[in-house]
Amino acid sequence: LIVLIDMDGPLADFEGHMLACWRRCFPQEAFVPLRDRSNFWAREQYARIDPRYPGMLNRLVGSADFFRSMPVVVGARKAVREMRQQGIQIYFCSSPLPQFPETAAAKLEWVGENFGSEMVSRTILTQDKTLVVGSILIDDNPGIKGAIRPHWKQVLWDMPFNRNAVGFPRMKRWASWPTFVGNGNKKF
Ligand SMILES: [Mg+2]
Repeated sequence: LIVLIDMDGPLADFEGHMLACWRRCFPQEAFVPLRDRSNFWAREQYARIDPRYPGMLNRLVGSADFFRSMPVVVGARKAVREMRQQGIQIYFCSSPLPQFPETAAAKLEWVGENFGSEMVSRTILTQDKTLVVGSILIDDNPGIKGAIRPHWKQVLWDMPFNRNAVGFPRMKRWASWPTFVGNGNKKF
């Protein structure tokens, strides 16, 4: 059983961290509370408030420091440890923004820091997740597109911006992983 896990969302609290950094860097500016985040790309929603905001947001999330200091999602470390103990093959699978190549390096550092060096060697950075083979992909993006029809089944990691997406099993917290992933003996 191969389980692919997206980084921003299921493993790393990208949205919470982005909002906290935004409010710290730009305390005078408007912001979107997490519960009101309505689409996958924050910069599109922020652009509707002020045309300066997408550029400001890009500078924030385009820095390596932003990724290095990202908090781990509650329960993620324990769940990854438990799944691996059960013999499930875990790979992290992330698409760093190509316009910010230094964030790719920062993501690998973050994995080493928070999940250990063994998981660094199991981290797949790709611009097309459909080309990665696996049984399940846990990901918060309901609109993954790519070159082929993916081999994996997607489990949607629940986020305010994907609440209207249908057709996926929806995972809200890591403690519930056995419901979605089953056990390592299952043949896929
Ligand atoms: Mg994500």
